[in-house]
Amino acid sequence: MKNLIISIFTIISILTSCGPKKIDCDKCDKTGKIDCPKCESTGNIECTWCYGRGKKKCSSCYGRGKEDCSFCYGSGQDDCSYCFGSGKNNEDDCSSCSGTGKQRCSYCSGSGGERCNDCFGSGSEDCADCEGTGFKECPECKGDLKVKCDKCMGEGFYSEK
Ligand SMILES: [Zn+2]
Ligand SMILES: [Zn+2]
Ligand SMILES: [Zn+2]
Ligand SMILES: [Zn+2]
Ligand SMILES: [Zn+2]
Ligand SMILES: [Zn+2]
Repeated sequence: MKNLIISIFTIISILTSCGPKKIDCDKCDKTGKIDCPKCESTGNIECTWCYGRGKKKCSSCYGRGKEDCSFCYGSGQDDCSYCFGSGKNNEDDCSSCSGTGKQRCSYCSGSGGERCNDCFGSGSEDCADCEGTGFKECPECKGDLKVKCDKCMGEGFYSEK
């Protein structure tokens, strides 16, 4: 009698451990992989730092393409070197500056600025994050274009519950 009970239990446990039926995954067509939803299977995503433009405003000149002349601080003018900015030569107006006391800044030729060396005057620089391409490799699929199927967890099939 005792043996019979044990064998019944054994039969029941075999039946339950047989497990649920495996069903082919229709979402990924049994491949376990689906098209990457993040990059829409392009392998790339738009660079969030430069909004896909590949360029960023130059951080040195704030996009102006030039920096204030370090000599005249952007005014384009300098004190007259003859009258040292007084505008006078003895009692007369300084002939060199016509009494203004100013002369054109020789450093920047009066423009008040010098070309930004970081962006060569363009005002923008390549985005360092995407190396100027405007795109970055998709972090989701790492350029594979496919990601693990979330329905079958990449198995290609799932089990009936
Ligand atoms: Zn699947
Ligand atoms: Zn610049
Ligand atoms: Zn200057
Ligand atoms: Zn002068
Ligand atoms: Zn970028
Ligand atoms: Zn992707």
